[in-house]
Amino acid sequence: MTGPLDGRVAIVTGAGSGIGRGCAISLARAGASIVVNDIDGDRADETLAAIGAIGGEAVAYVADVRRAGPVEALVRHSEERYGGLDVMFANAGISVYHQLETQPEDDIDSVLGVNLKGVLLCCKYAIGAMRRRGGGSIVITSSVQATHSLPGCVAYAATKAGVLAVARTLALEVGRENIRVNCVSPGTIDTPMLSRDLAGMDAEHASAFLGQVEGANALGRIGTVAEVADVVAFLAGDQAAYVTGTNIVVDGGFTAVKKF
Ligand code: NAD
Repeated sequence: MTGPLDGRVAIVTGAGSGIGRGCAISLARAGASIVVNDIDGDRADETLAAIGAIGGEAVAYVADVRRAGPVEALVRHSEERYGGLDVMFANAGISVYHQLETQPEDDIDSVLGVNLKGVLLCCKYAIGAMRRRGGGSIVITSSVQATHSLPGCVAYAATKAGVLAVARTLALEVGRENIRVNCVSPGTIDTPMLSRDLAGMDAEHASAFLGQVEGANALGRIGTVAEVADVVAFLAGDQAAYVTGTNIVVDGGFTAVKKF
């Protein structure tokens, strides 16, 4: 495939589903070779097949982003297979909704482990590979919940606010080496994660929640994976050459709404 990311190599974590899968396909369509990471091998293989179906280049690599050894090996695999790493899309995440007062410690460890430690490890091991390449772009998936609060997701919100700080701070550490670090913050996007969250509510609550979300943004609808993928592809590529240490919100205007 040829496109603006021709010759680039991208790792996409959590690429077996939802935003990660959509972005992996979109980056492949733009010409990048993709290392499709997920903790679930079957899901990673489905994404691999989808990239193959559009004539893209990809390999699947199963790794748990919570562990340093597997993440280091994931980056090494990118270098061995494709000769380097240009784009790290640190996207793998889990949503765990729980009132903090009664939230089990294991639950807190899980969400911090995937959403925050996982992102730190992906960044940590990407730096050396990008330095060897003369630069690169790290994109991290945050969320509107980093800045706009809902009850019942304190730990999740803390991880998403945390990665905004990761992007800002790491951008300062690696900017002189031509490595950019940014976040994308989706609003409510139609993915299996959203379906699971809705399935955890009774029908009345689920429909009220969806109605509230749709009514609470400027465009009056939830977003699509493709709409997030376009922004990730922008941040990954040269059109964003002077964009670093920041966050692009993709939320249909949810965070623009002033509540009285
Ligand atoms: P999803 O559940 O559809 O996909 C997440 C993928 O991550 C899954 O394939 C899962 O197997 C993988 N994963 C989970 N733990 C992993 C681990 N330890 N190592 C490697 N892979 C792992 O979710 P999604 O909706 O596509 O969410 C993707 C990202 O977007 C997450 O960081 C999420 O917090 C964020 N986000 C989603 C929404 C939304 O509305 N869907 C909104 C804002 C932010």
